[in-house]
Amino acid sequence: MENAIKKAIEGWYSPVDRATKRPISVLQLRKQWRVAVLDPLFWKALGKAEEWSEYAVCRKHGKSDCYRVNCFEGYAAEWLYHQHNFIDHIASGGSIDDFFNELLAGKE
Ligand SMILES: [Zn+2]
Repeated sequence: MENAIKKAIEGWYSPVDRATKRPISVLQLRKQWRVAVLDPLFWKALGKAEEWSEYAVCRKHGKSDCYRVNCFEGYAAEWLYHQHNFIDHIASGGSIDDFFNELLAGKE
């Protein structure tokens, strides 16, 4: 998670407290990372830092050129694809750190 926060800040993520609408410092963000993972702007910023596609990718396979037979999943921005995967991962009992370690693997 630490690495994901670092990356999102590189992608100009500026978190805001939803209740007060006031900016959250990076230090606060490290404690309140649950706010970040639910925030679309966090994922967009992460995508900017990671140079994910700004264009649509297949919702199921994450590819911009998915021509698989019988793939009718529809298309979404790549950050949305990763956010959905994240939610599925958490819903099935996966660890948050494992998810981000794998997502950001080999990219320092
Ligand atoms: Zn597909």
